[in-house]
Order: sequence, then C-alpha cells, then structure tokens
Amino acid sequence: MAVPVPIRCRTSLSLVVVLAALQIQSLAQETPAPPRKIAVVGAGIGGSAVAHFLQQQFGPQVQIDVYEKGSVGGRLATVTVNSQQYECGSSSIHSLNLHMQDFVKLLGLKHRREITGKSAIFNGEQLILEETDWYLLNLFRLWWHYGISLLRLQMWVEEVMEKFMRIYKYQAYGYAFSTVDELLRSLGGENFISMMQRSVSESLLELGVTQRFIDDVIAALLRTGYGQPVSIPAFAGAISLAAAQGNRWAVEGGNTLVCSELLKQTKANVIQAQVTEIELHSTEGKTLYQVKHQANDEHASDFYDMVIIATPLHQEKGNITFRNFDPAVGEGPGSYHHIVSSVIHGYLNASYFGFPDPKLFPFASILATDNPGLFFNSLDNICPVNVSAGFRRKQPQEAAVWKVLSQQPLDKQQLKTLFRSYYSVQTTEWLAYPQYGSSNTVPPIVLHDNLFYLSSIEWAASSVEMSAVAAKNVALLAYNRWFQHLDKIDQKDLMQKVKTEL
Ligand SMILES: Cc1cc2nc3c(=O)[nH]c(=O)nc-3n(C[C@H](O)[C@H](O)[C@H](O)COP(=O)(O)OP(=O)(O)OC[C@H]3O[C@@H](n4cnc5c(N)ncnc54)[C@H](O)[C@@H]3O)c2cc1C
Repeated sequence: MAVPVPIRCRTSLSLVVVLAALQIQSLAQETPAPPRKIAVVGAGIGGSAVAHFLQQQFGPQVQIDVYEKGSVGGRLATVTVNSQQYECGSSSIHSLNLHMQDFVKLLGLKHRREITGKSAIFNGEQLILEETDWYLLNLFRLWWHYGISLLRLQMWVEEVMEKFMRIYKYQAYGYAFSTVDELLRSLGGENFISMMQRSVSESLLELGVTQRFIDDVIAALLRTGYGQPVSIPAFAGAISLAAAQGNRWAVEGGNTLVCSELLKQTKANVIQAQVTEIELHSTEGKTLYQVKHQANDEHASDFYDMVIIATPLHQEKGNITFRNFDPAVGEGPGSYHHIVSSVIHGYLNASYFGFPDPKLFPFASILATDNPGLFFNSLDNICPVNVSAGFRRKQPQEAAVWKVLSQQPLDKQQLKTLFRSYYSVQTTEWLAYPQYGSSNTVPPIVLHDNLFYLSSIEWAASSVEMSAVAAKNVALLAYNRWFQHLDKIDQKDLMQKVKTEL
C-alpha cells in the first residue's frame, strides 16, 4: 500500500530531486568527455609507449593515430648480416629500467640470453685497463691504479639512481610534471637542477675522484655512451654511467619488438607518413589541431583534440612547421650529436691492440679514451638478436660481427686498421643524442593546451628508459590537464604526499 506523503514534505522532496538533477547536470558539464582522437608523431619507444599510456589513461574508446616517417622503433633498429639480425641502434637496457621491464612482461617478450665478454680501454697506443676473468683482480687493479675513485663513483651514481627511481612511485600515483625542471626537482631537489648545469668532471673532482680516473675511465665510458666528453652535464653523465655499471639486458628478437608490440596491443593506427605541419584551429571555444602529413608525394591531413610530439624537434629530425600558434612554436634549441654505427663482419686486426697472435685477444669490447686522434668510440663483438641455446662467441681468430661507433663514417684505411679483412660493412648514421652544451635551455613539455613535446626530456638525459618515463609523464599530464586534476600536476613534497596516500 502506498504511504501518503504530506504536501509540504512532497514539495521539499521534489526540490531535492531537482537540485540533485541540477548538480548531476553541472557535474556532467564540468567533466568533459575524453578526447575523441589523439595524434602521436613518431613510433620510437617514446611514441609507442605514449600511445600505450594514453590508452591506459583515457580508455580504449579514444582513437590513437601514430605517424611514423621511417621505421617503427626509431633509434631501436637492427641490420641483417648473414640472415641474422643485429642491433645497430640502442643495444642495451639497464636492469632498473622499470617501464621497459614492465613492457617486456606485459607483451610476453623475453630477455635475451646474455653472452658475457671482457672489456678493455684503449688510448690510441695501448690498452690502459684490461678486465680479467677474476672479479677481485679487477677490483684490485682499479684500486691499484685509481685508489678509491671507483668507490666514490659508484656511491655517486647509486645516489642519483636511488632518487631517480622515485619517479616510478610518483607516476604510479598519477602525478605528472609540466616541465623537465619540475620533474627533476621533485626527484632530487635543487641538486638535480644544478647537475644539469655542472659538468660530470667538475662534479666528480669535487667528490674526490682523481683526474686520472676521469681521463682514463669516465671519458671512455661517456665516449661510448654519448660519444661526448666529460664536460657534458652531470645528470646526463650519471644516467649514462649508471647504464655502464649495472646489469644490462636486451630483448630476445630485437629491442624494436617492444615498440611494434606495444602499438599492436594498443590497437593504434600506425600511419606511414611524415608529419609536415601542425595548424591550430580555435572555433567557439573548441581547440583542434590539424595534422598535415605526406607520404609518397601525397598530402593529407586530419583533425585531433590532442597531439603528442615524440621526436626531437630539430631540423634534420622532426622538420615540422607549426602554424597559428601564439606564442609561436618552433624548432628546439641546440643541436643533435652525429654518431655512425658500422656493423662489420670480418677478422679483427688484434695486432693494432697489441696482440700479434689473434688467438690470444681476449676482449669482446674495446672502449676508446677521449684522444682526439682516435677515430672510433667503441668496438664491440656483438651477438645476434636471437641467441640460440648452442650459441657461442666466435674465437678471436674467426670472422665475427663487430659494431664500431665513431664520429665519422670509417674510411678504407681506418677499416684496414681495425680489420685484417672483412666480408661486409653496414653503416647507419644517427643524430643520436642532444649535443650537450649546445644549449642551456631545456625545451618545454607543454607546447600548447593539448599539444605536448615528449622528447624534451632528452636534454636532461637520453636513453630508452628516459623516453618511456617521459611517455608516462606526458600521458598523465595530458589526462590531468584534460580533466582539470590540477592537484596531480607539479606538486611539491611528493615523497611525503605519496607516503600519506599509502
Ligand atoms: C647508436 C645508438 C646507440 C644507443 N644506445 C643506447 C643504449 O644502449 N641504451 C639506451 O637506453 N639508449 C641508447 N640510445 C639512445 C636511445 O636509442 C634513444 O634515447 C631512444 O631510442 C629515443 O627514443 P624516442 O622514441 O624518444 O626517439 P626516436 O627513436 O628517435 O623516435 C622518433 C621517431 O619519430 C619519427 N619521426 C621523426 N620526425 C617525424 C615526422 N615529422 N613525422 C613522422 N615521424 C617522424 C622518426 O622516424 C623516429 O622513428 C642509443 C642511440 C643510438 C643512436
């Protein structure tokens, strides 16, 4: 039986219903619908990872188009020698690179079996430091030559890494940063900011690391890592030195698989075209970005609610014109460092390194010191991307596949210096990393309301994981800005906040 409601009560009830309806309506007005279409420019690890993270944030209904002018993977790439593929771009990933570790797990990929090999440092005349099979002997040699410099270096790098690892926690809680400076400040305070302005050598000397250790060891590691000298900023240097120190791994089948599989899993539309122009259209309070692109002389364009630039905006690299933006959006500052990777199948000339009998040459890697007369940065006996159970490294007197990194393509004479003879040489020229020191400003992440620049992070440090970290940051930033979650952007004292949120 229906219970009669008194008139007064009925009026206030309907008032409550109306108010609630109004509130829901205003909430619906306040909460915008998710973006309909997002464009990502570049399908390297940055672009592939951002497509994945954007979908995680906004949901599967958002259409994500990824434009790629070259090959999926970008600076993760392989060349084929004798029907086997070898990494010719980024070859190794650090064990603490947690986004990359997650991707591999998520995608069902595997770590490649590691084939160990010893390293040595060459100064142009002789090997000045040689690794042995004995860990304690290696430590003793380092201590004998350089005192406790190695220990000081290790402590410095570990401290930087420990602070850097905070980013994973912040990102797990949905926090994002609108500038690279804010991101670094939240991880390591003003110390990280000053590490962007001071050089590696300055910082290490201050810690008591000897000049000799810097000239012999640090210079060789940075020349291999970034092709650049010890004057690069301390933050980039520490990230590069961390990679040299820790356990490194690679993806079975090739590192580029992470990009192609992420894009597949995200169901992103990969559009094989070069983005030439991005034009801003604002009508009736709505902002749209027109992305103009070109493939095989055919021009086309499409409109997007949001665009992520996941390639360096430098001439020779991005080559994108921005139209109608006020203030203007343009090319990034500074320049990119040129590196040549030569994958050579041949017989090493071990006598150049002081081993007249090639059978006795025990090294898989040679790192060069910062000697201006030396024409290569590093030389590595490399394994294919698929390492079978029975795979073994070639004996030093056998023909093997070597990767040589150098500033310029190797000429015939230089090839003859390094190799007694060779079957093939495959050369890839890279604009590999920022030329640190060519600019003191770090480009912005937010180029316009919903236009973001992922690659600006490279001016702090450039690596596969840095691009993945930047990808997650951009996806969170885009999401937080779109839904006005301003309390999740550029927050101070995040360590404290995250602890209390637990
Ligand atoms: C030789 C070499 C060795 C390296 N070794 C290591 C290593 O061992 N470990 C490590 O962590 N890092 C290493 N790196 C660095 C690492 O490879 C890069 O930091 C990382 O791959 C950058 O990825 P990204 O997606 O940000 O940029 P990219 O890989 O450069 O991707 C950008 C993509 O955008 C595309 N693109 C550019 N312009 C346009 C346009 N207008 N329209 C459409 N598409 C466009 C490009 O073709 C490219 O595919 C190495 C790099 C090189 C070159």
